[in-house]
Parts: sequence; C-alpha cells; structure tokens
Amino acid sequence: TKTPVTVAVTGAAGNIGYALMFRLASGAMLGPDQPIYINAIELPFAMEALKGVIMELRDCAFPLVKGILATDDAEQGFENADYALLVGSKPRSKGQERSDLLKENGGIFETIGRILNKVAKKTCKTTVVGNPANTNCLITAHNAPDIPSENFSSMMRLDHDRGLAQAALKLGHDPQDITEFAVWGNHSATMFPDLTYARLFGETYRHTFGNKEFDAWNEKEFIPTVQQRGAAIIEARGSSSAASAANAAIAQTRDWVHGNDGRWLTMGIKSGGEYGIPEGLWSGFPVEVDGEGNYAIVKDLPISSFQEEQIGKSVKELLSERDAVAELLH
Ligand code: NDP
Repeated sequence: TKTPVTVAVTGAAGNIGYALMFRLASGAMLGPDQPIYINAIELPFAMEALKGVIMELRDCAFPLVKGILATDDAEQGFENADYALLVGSKPRSKGQERSDLLKENGGIFETIGRILNKVAKKTCKTTVVGNPANTNCLITAHNAPDIPSENFSSMMRLDHDRGLAQAALKLGHDPQDITEFAVWGNHSATMFPDLTYARLFGETYRHTFGNKEFDAWNEKEFIPTVQQRGAAIIEARGSSSAASAANAAIAQTRDWVHGNDGRWLTMGIKSGGEYGIPEGLWSGFPVEVDGEGNYAIVKDLPISSFQEEQIGKSVKELLSERDAVAELLH
C-alpha cells in the first residue's frame, strides 16, 4: 500500500469546496489506491460551516481518508502538503472596483505563497481555483521562490471541458472523441477556446463540421458560448457553477499527476514567452502530460492572424491584472 499524502484545501466550506471535498476523499483525484490526509483550511468565520462539512465527510467513511484536519491556521494547514487546492478567495462586493478586488485577493495569495514556501513540501503541486485564478497563481508562485514555478497551475480545465462539451454536442459526439483542443489566455470572458487544430476521430473538426459553416459558428456561437458559460450558469441557477468547477479542479490535478491517454489538456501555467505570450504570465496553453507529474506546452503550432488576435485580447487583460497587483510582485 502507498504512503498517505497530504492534500490541503482552502475555502473548504464554500460552494466549490463542498463539491470538491467529497470527490477528493473518494479517490477521484489521486486514485483508488492512494490514502490521503485532508487538511481543510477556512477563515475563522467559516469554521462552524466547515465543521458540518467535516461531519459529513466522516459520515461517508471513505476508506482512503486517513486523517482530517480542520483549521483556520494556514501554517498548520499547509504543513508538509504534497498538494494544495486553493479555492478560497474573496468574491467581488457590490460596486467594488476590479482593481481593488485584484489587490484584496492578491493579498490573500501573497500570504498563502509565503506559507507554502515555509511549510509545504518543496515538491508540493498547487492548483489555484479562486478568482482571478491566473493572477492569483502568479502571486502565489512569486511568493514561494523555493518551490519550482512549474508546480503552480491555475485552473483552466473548466473552460477546456466546457469547450469540449459544446463542440461535441454540436455534432452529436462524445467529448472524448474530440482531441487537440485547448483554451488560451485568462480564465475569464476573454479566454480563447481554440478549435483550430481540433480533430474528431483523426479528421479535422472543421472539415467534419463543414469548412464553410465552421467559421461563422465558431465565431458567433462556439467562442461566445464558452466565454459566457459562467454567466449563463449564474443566470439559470441563481448562483455560480460549483460542482463543475470542483470537477475541473479534480480533473486538472489528476491528469497533471497521473497523466491521461495522450490527449491535449489546458492548464494555466507560467509562460516562458511561448506563442508571444509574455514571459512570467500564467496563461492557458495546450499542454501534454507524461504521467509522472510533468507537463510540456505543445510546440510548433502554426498561429493564424485570427488566433493571434484572440490570444492577444486575453493577454492584454492578463497584463493589466499583473499591473494592478504590481506592488505584490517585488
Ligand atoms: P465558491 O466556492 O463558489 O468559489 C470559490 C472561488 O472559486 C471564487 O473565487 C470563484 O470565483 C472561483 N472560481 C473559479 N472558477 C470558477 C468557476 N468556473 N465557477 C465558479 N467559481 C469559480 O465561493 P464561496 O464564497 O462559496 O466560498 C469561498 C470560501 O473560501 C468561503 O468559505 C471563504 O470563507 C473561504 N476563503 C478562504 C480563504 C482561506 O482559506 N485562506 C481565503 C478567502 C476565502 P468567483 O468569485 O469569480 O465566482
């Protein structure tokens, strides 16, 4: 049997946390043979709610869970962490400026980065879910200089899976029939879900769809639908997506750790300047994983002017987010 690993989760009593904890505990992220310690981290005001979540978690009697810690002390919560899922962040309050929200959350992730650096394992892998996820991830990594920056990813998997689902639905296929799809840029309405290279059973998606019809549908329906999906869910459900966000956090981390069947994935990772995306930004890229915890950006893709324009819009936003939190990045 494997040695237990420690998974720290912030915002564990929130909406996403409530959906995520049970999937994590069931083995959906690290596999059915990997025992885990769960460290649930919350703010003091949410500790009572967290107590209830932990009671339910215990009541599931999950065989893989070897211990549960509930704490509002992040140093205790991240101690020896092998994995960190950073879900907790501050929602935008009414009338608040975006730049103020960025700074407030930046402060949260600055602290978390420092604490991870101090107490987590140097091999700890972190997935950032709390918004603005890409910029929060940048801040966290920046403040954890002793942990390799490749170990920090922001969640882009929900955007990826939303894209796959829409593209599959349109042609009456299963999402996993589509390969070579990815989402570039920020986890926000500026993201670019990119079907340029996508294939359906080896044939290009574009060709299967019909070359002529593809461009109109792609630009007028597909891209905006994926970009606006979060807002559409709030409109329909009355609150933001939670179960699908939790699923995406689990799936992104699972595939990062265990690999997949050679398909492209989307992860928010540090740019080294690839495809003109400025170095040091955390952006969505098409990546491949090797099953041993490593990923690499898919290389040498031809980029059309349409793609360049779409990617550029989202990169512009990432740059302005970075500017807004510049004081946290010295
Ligand atoms: P949710 O659980 O609904 O969301 C948590 C974060 O995930 C938000 O920033 C949310 O962004 C983000 N998110 C990322 N992708 C998505 C997506 N596709 N759909 C929806 N959300 C997405 O928030 P709650 O307010 O219910 O819970 C947050 C919890 O975090 C609270 O219990 C709070 O106490 C805790 N918290 C803990 C901290 C800590 O432990 N250090 C720090 C701050 C908060 P968006 O806001 O844009 O919806």
